[in-house]
Amino acid sequence: MKQRLQGAGMTSRRTRERMVSRLRSQGILNAKVLAVMAEIPRHVFVDEALESRAYEDTALPIGHNQTISQPYIVAKMTELLLEKGPLTKVLEIGTGCGYQTAILAKLVDQVYSVERIAPLMKKARDLLWELDIKSVGFKHSDGGWGWPDHAPFDGILAAAAPTEIPEALLQQMAIGCVMVIPVGHEGRQELHRIIRTENGFEDEVVERVTFVPFLTGVG
Ligand code: SAH
Repeated sequence: MKQRLQGAGMTSRRTRERMVSRLRSQGILNAKVLAVMAEIPRHVFVDEALESRAYEDTALPIGHNQTISQPYIVAKMTELLLEKGPLTKVLEIGTGCGYQTAILAKLVDQVYSVERIAPLMKKARDLLWELDIKSVGFKHSDGGWGWPDHAPFDGILAAAAPTEIPEALLQQMAIGCVMVIPVGHEGRQELHRIIRTENGFEDEVVERVTFVPFLTGVG
């Protein structure tokens, strides 16, 4: 693992820095987000056979019909989540390979991550432990229920797109909480940023996106 972490050629720190320059040219401005993306080795989150493509601006398969989100979308969602100020307790729905989880863990105090496919959740948990990232709680569950034991949250990030935002997630938002979530049917989804205020919810549509569907039940 040590050697794999180190990387070489297409998996080196220099390749990661080129990815970060590209993110900057794509409009990502948050210096903390960019610094963390330069630090976390994205290639260890994908299969070794795909390692050399890990820093391309593309989603890649991670098994079980799921994908690791493209670097731009990880950066954009993280930036949107953090724009209104620092966050302490963030709920993530859709751990997948754990890459977005690792990025979040470096930027907020505590992350609670829910994944419906048990083998993905376990692999991500082991990998983050190896990367010495220990401020993350993992749960194998349908994220549509949120994680009531740890609610309310001051940030929620979903990596899969429901057609409608699950009520439980809205209920688990503290006042001031920011939720970044893709919403819509396959092929025409939009990224939303929702903020809970004293009076209700503000809903802003950010851009069109493509995500895997938010499924119900456990896999
Ligand atoms: N950020 C992850 C994205 C993985 S793709 C990464 O970069 O690897 C989205 C993930 O959401 C998949 O792993 C899928 O299994 C999970 N997912 C979909 N619906 C879910 C639900 N209702 N509850 C929990 N996880 C869900």
